[in-house]
Amino acid sequence: MDRCPGCNARLRRQIKCPRCQADLSEIIGSELSAQMWLSIAIQYSLDSKMGQSVEALVISIRLKKTKLAIVFRGFLIMQQCQYVLHLLAQKQLLPAKQRLYNLRLLFPYSQQLRQINLFADYLWVND
Ligand SMILES: [Zn+2]
Repeated sequence: MDRCPGCNARLRRQIKCPRCQADLSEIIGSELSAQMWLSIAIQYSLDSKMGQSVEALVISIRLKKTKLAIVFRGFLIMQQCQYVLHLLAQKQLLPAKQRLYNLRLLFPYSQQLRQINLFADYLWVND
């Protein structure tokens, strides 16, 4: 955090704003937690533990929506959509729906996820 969210004063790694005296320790703590959860999400992804990766990324983004977290979210959604389509092609509807449910925690308004979910529902009804 470069500036105080209260008065916009420039901060130099201070916990207390030099202008308005706001205590910024909670905000700084949540930023550090967001970074930690993003690292955990990336590590789970590298270990192919995608469910845990998504859950860790959701926590990270709730703490602070950084550009890196948003880019990683886009990457995860693209990668997981490919995986869900692969499951659907193999008629593994339940695992596909479970993965989609997990992914929709990450980005409930993703058009791509909604379209694949509708397609999965179509296959489910017509199975
Ligand atoms: Zn301030």
